[in-house]
Amino acid sequence: MKLTPDNYYSHETDWQYMSFSLFKDFEQCDARALAKLKEDWRPASSPVPLLVGNYVHSYFESVESHSDFIEANKRALMTRPTKTNPQGHLRAEFKVANQLVQCLQDDDMFKYFYTPGDKEVIVTGKINGYWWKGKIDSLCLDKGYFCDLKTVDDIHKGHWNAEEHRYVPFIQDREYNLQMAIYRELIKQTFHVACQPFIFAVSKQTPPDKMAIDFSSPDGTDEYEMQEQLDKLKELQPHFWKVMTGEEKPEHCGKCDYCRETKMLSGFVHASDIEV
Ligand SMILES: [Zn+2]
Repeated sequence: MKLTPDNYYSHETDWQYMSFSLFKDFEQCDARALAKLKEDWRPASSPVPLLVGNYVHSYFESVESHSDFIEANKRALMTRPTKTNPQGHLRAEFKVANQLVQCLQDDDMFKYFYTPGDKEVIVTGKINGYWWKGKIDSLCLDKGYFCDLKTVDDIHKGHWNAEEHRYVPFIQDREYNLQMAIYRELIKQTFHVACQPFIFAVSKQTPPDKMAIDFSSPDGTDEYEMQEQLDKLKELQPHFWKVMTGEEKPEHCGKCDYCRETKMLSGFVHASDIEV
């Protein structure tokens, strides 16, 4: 099946192409990822943070994309109409989104790097024999780089990493090293051009914070990190694909929203064995 802007996010194409978000779903919990993919179950979490991100993305994509997005999501974006305000007004979260837009729009470095690129470019390729898809926020093939726009709560917030027993920055928490490594590979396979990744992060604080991030530390740490993440991907993905085709059984993490919703007690846990 050929990927288009219309079917890119459909579950139909998810069965044929792995994506960064689906991979992360599987990493969190096989059973949850599979239930979502089969449309047997949907998380109850608020769609607002995702919508705020999409609001900002669509603004920098094109005037048309932004007005289409607003039209399609009117009910989520606007308050209920009242007698004194028959149109309703923009919800507080999207007023914040407008501040993020303004904050980036006023920035010369952002304009220089992000604005000229082709927007929402679909790329595909094979990683260790399996098909992958990706969507590049802003791609400058002629200058050899691509940009991803991220909205975050606070750029400097620490996120607890259970494996490393320490707080890590959002880049590591959300596995963006992996996403950049995947996108770089897919761009190379689609266009035969080696591109370097940049992230433009903007925070939802008032006033918003912003940061331009590269992955080219002179001591090679970033490159090492990306390679290590890709190695992890290659190790984990065969099992995820086999869960999708039904060859292997999904594992239940036992802790996520899906597992909690579907849980039945099946025995005692020793008081000294509870995982934290
Ligand atoms: Zn789970």
